[in-house]
Amino acid sequence: MKIQKNISLKSKNTFGIDVCAAKYVDILDENELIDLLSQSTFKDEPKLILGGGSNILFTQDYKGLVIKISIPGIKIIFEDEQTCLVKAGAGVIWNDLVLFAVEKNLGGIENLVSIPGTVGAAPVQNIGAYGEELQNSFHSLKGIFINTADETVFDKDECQFAYRDSIFKRELREKFIITYVILQLNKNPQPVFNYGMVKTEMEKLHKDKYSIKDVSDTIAKIRDEKLPNPTSIGNAGSFFKNPEIDKDQFLEIKKEHPDTPGFTTPNSMVKVPAGWLIEKCGWKGKRINNVGVHANQALVLVNYGNSRGLDILNLAAEIKISVLKTFGIELTEEVNIY
Ligand code: FAD
Ligand code: NAP
Repeated sequence: MKIQKNISLKSKNTFGIDVCAAKYVDILDENELIDLLSQSTFKDEPKLILGGGSNILFTQDYKGLVIKISIPGIKIIFEDEQTCLVKAGAGVIWNDLVLFAVEKNLGGIENLVSIPGTVGAAPVQNIGAYGEELQNSFHSLKGIFINTADETVFDKDECQFAYRDSIFKRELREKFIITYVILQLNKNPQPVFNYGMVKTEMEKLHKDKYSIKDVSDTIAKIRDEKLPNPTSIGNAGSFFKNPEIDKDQFLEIKKEHPDTPGFTTPNSMVKVPAGWLIEKCGWKGKRINNVGVHANQALVLVNYGNSRGLDILNLAAEIKISVLKTFGIELTEEVNIY
């Protein structure tokens, strides 16, 4: 285990923001992590946990210790007729786990193909896309408390999963490090593709029976065409969450903006696409110096060059003000800001 000093984090976050970490360590196994957290030298040091850096906005240099989680390994640990438990190290690239599952025809996470980042970060915001969420295939996870170096297991209920949210994004933020995730996948998968664009594209395949590979290939293609690739243009995916408002507020908004889209949620709220709200306020495709709003998806803020995290944050603040003024809706950030 090597502690590096004054390391640039530019290549370690998909926004490509150039800040410096006072100390940086790459962790390859859980014993190393327990060792590190047990050392008195680092006890009082602030600690930031880093995966692939695809859901982070750095606004300043980090004065503490950045702990990059690179624990590898994907393994089937149990199977019966119906299900298969797959255990993956927190440092595994999420998409590699999806491809592993699809290749073995294990269903549940195929709609989550092409989401950047690591397995360990996936439960943090209960990653979701195209009508599917991690929690639907989640079994349990293992991790370590930062303060005590104690290991523990969380089952699904204990993770308190919600829409792009979990206990790890709230009460346990910067307190708990996920080391392994176990998924419960289906050996007789039923592809789910009733989500607008996916359904249209799948129907073009003209098949009697669709496989989960058909779904993951189709979604990967849609994402490739629509979303900016962070290797060409800095971004962290959706900057804001889609707001959930009550039905009365939605109907009020509809009076003035009859074309406002809304999706009823399981808790009888209405989810309004934040990208639509931002676009309606005239931000789509706008550029201010080196930061901007992506031309294909207004929910994605981009770094065109060497911008600072604060430039992105200022743009986000302006967007929030205009959405609040126009629709009376307060957007909240999905990206983790440091
Ligand atoms: P990081 O950005 O490194 O970290 C995110 C947060 O998790 C931080 O607060 C960090 O401290 C914490 N964290 C990281 N690893 C651990 C760990 N092992 N233990 C505890 N805490 C940890 N998200 C979606 O939900 N759906 C999408 O469809 C989607 N599409 C995207 C498309 C693009 C182009 C991009 C750039 C991002 C997209 N995202 C999407 C956001 C992002 O990919 C996910 O949130 C992903 O899970 C982040 O993983 P990461 O390893 O990069 O996490
Ligand atoms: P889209 O298909 O243009 O849809 C816009 C929004 O409407 C989405 O945010 C989605 O909410 C909602 N929506 C559309 N159809 C829906 C349905 N049938 N039921 C419920 N909600 C519906 O969105 P997009 O930007 O191209 O993204 C496609 C998918 O990838 C979405 O699920 C999105 O969340 C995910 N994605 C996430 C990120 C990220 O960083 N978090 C980045 C890129 C893409 P939901 O977002 O709740 O699905």
